Amino acid sequence: MTGNFDVQWIHGARSKNDDADPPIQVHRYDHDTYILRQSMTLSHEAPFLYLLFGQDRAVLFDTGATEDPETFPLRATVDQIMDSWGEGNPRESYELIVAHTHSHGDHIAGDDQFDQRPLTRVVGTELEAVQSFFGFTEWPHEVVAFDLGGRVLEVTGIPGHHPTSLAVFDPATGFLLTGDSVYPGRLYAFDMPAFTASLDHLVDFAEARPVTHVMGCHIEMSRQPGRDYPVGAKYQPEEPPLQMSMPQLREVRTAARATAAKPGVYPHADFIIVSGMGLKNILRLLIRSAVQRLGIR
Ligand SMILES: [Zn+2]
Repeated sequence: MTGNFDVQWIHGARSKNDDADPPIQVHRYDHDTYILRQSMTLSHEAPFLYLLFGQDRAVLFDTGATEDPETFPLRATVDQIMDSWGEGNPRESYELIVAHTHSHGDHIAGDDQFDQRPLTRVVGTELEAVQSFFGFTEWPHEVVAFDLGGRVLEVTGIPGHHPTSLAVFDPATGFLLTGDSVYPGRLYAFDMPAFTASLDHLVDFAEARPVTHVMGCHIEMSRQPGRDYPVGAKYQPEEPPLQMSMPQLREVRTAARATAAKPGVYPHADFIIVSGMGLKNILRLLIRSAVQRLGIR
C-alpha cells in the first residue's frame, strides 16, 4: 500500500479574476486510485470525487455539483484518465460504474454526462436503486461486497446525513470513504438518531479493517482548531488535509453521542457537528460565520 498525498488541493481564489484553478483537479494517489476535486469557483461546495480501478471495472464515487459539461467537463476528464490507465492496462469491455456516496445535489449533478457513455452503469439516486445495485437485503448496517476485479470493496449503509449515505472500505488503499458523514468540516446530521447509530456502526466497521485514512468529500475547516470557513466561502487558503485518521473518526462518534440529545452547532478542533438543521441552527451557523469572518480579517 503506497499512495501519496503530495498534492496542494485547489482552494479557490479571492476573486474570479485571480482564479487560476482548473475546473477539476486530478490527483493520482496510486497506480489505480484517483482523487478529483471540483473547483471552488464553480461551486463553493468544491466536492472531492473518487475514481478506483480494478481488473474488471472502475468505479467513480460522485459526479460533483455542476451539471454543465462545458464548465465542468467531468465525463471528458474521467474518459481521459481511463484512456491513460487503459494504455498501461489493456482490457476489453472495461466497465465504468458511476455510484454515489449519497444523493445530495453536490454529489450527483454530473450524472447525466455519463448517460450515453458505452459500458457504463449509473447507479440511481433513490434509496431503492442504491440498495438493489449493491445487493443490500438488510439495510443499512449489512456489509456487502462490491468487486472491481481483484479489488473487493466493502460497502455499508450509514444514513443520518442522508438516507442513502454509504461508507466504503477499499482494501487496496485502506481508504474508508465516508461521504459527507465524516470530513474536516460541518457534519450535518439531518437525522440525529440515525447519524449516531451510523457512527457507532462505522467505528465498529472501521476498527475491524486495516483503515489507513478516512476520506470524506469536502473540506470546510481552516487550520485553526474549531474554525471553519464561512458557509459559502469560495477561497480557503488554509485548509487542513482532506484525509482524517481513525482517532479523529472516533472523536466524531464521541462528539455526536455527547450532543445527540440537543440539536445545535457544536464546534470541535477538526470538525463541527450540526444536528437538527432547524431555522434556529441555520441562523446560528450564519451568525458564527459572520462573527468569525470579522475575527479573521
Ligand atoms: Zn456534499
